[in-house]
Amino acid sequence: MTDSPCLVAVGAHAADMEFAAGGAILQHVRAGWQAHIVHLTPGEKGSATLSVEAYAAQKQQEAASAASALGATPHFLPYADGELPATDAVARELALLFRRLQPRVLIAHWPGSIHQDHTNAHHLCVRARFIAAIRHFELAGLPPVKGCRLYFSDNWEDPTDFEPYVYVDISDVMAGWEKACKAYAIGRGESGFPYWDWYEARTRQHGILRGVSHAQAFGIDATEKFRMQQLL
Ligand SMILES: [Zn+2]
Repeated sequence: MTDSPCLVAVGAHAADMEFAAGGAILQHVRAGWQAHIVHLTPGEKGSATLSVEAYAAQKQQEAASAASALGATPHFLPYADGELPATDAVARELALLFRRLQPRVLIAHWPGSIHQDHTNAHHLCVRARFIAAIRHFELAGLPPVKGCRLYFSDNWEDPTDFEPYVYVDISDVMAGWEKACKAYAIGRGESGFPYWDWYEARTRQHGILRGVSHAQAFGIDATEKFRMQQLL
């Protein structure tokens, strides 16, 4: 642990958080934060040509390269693509990690998703944040996580009712973010879906409306809005 503030992004599949939050992650790292990216599954069932085992190995290597480009530390939980269980046992595993890392900012999936793993990852993060914050949940004697802000990433697979609320100016880190995205074969468009084009265009659109070159958007939940209102 260091004294620098900590950001933790939790994605259902390797690549989700690098694509949907990587610019903001790198922007925070450049500002002196430490960053961690948690992959709940490798996303190993997404290849049209490779076996599950071969693609899992490839995704893990790609995740290591992407994390390096963002100055972040990758973490892998041992769950399977398309089979991520939304259980208290998994939430406690995440909460234990949160207690170890003591994040000030947590980034999770928006719940309105076309992918069940993404929706489950959202609920796991919300539950894990709650468990990590309450001292009466005993987790290896680690202290509770207090005052951790929760934000939801702007992922093309999580579009239902997504409402941008917070924007991060990522204009100065576009090259590093692009390098992280293109560490993945899917980020280079090799699956047929032009991931980088979508995310670059998305952040450009947000940037235009915010008066900067590129901005990455995040949603918050109703509870978080209530808390923010109390601070005004
Ligand atoms: Zn995903």
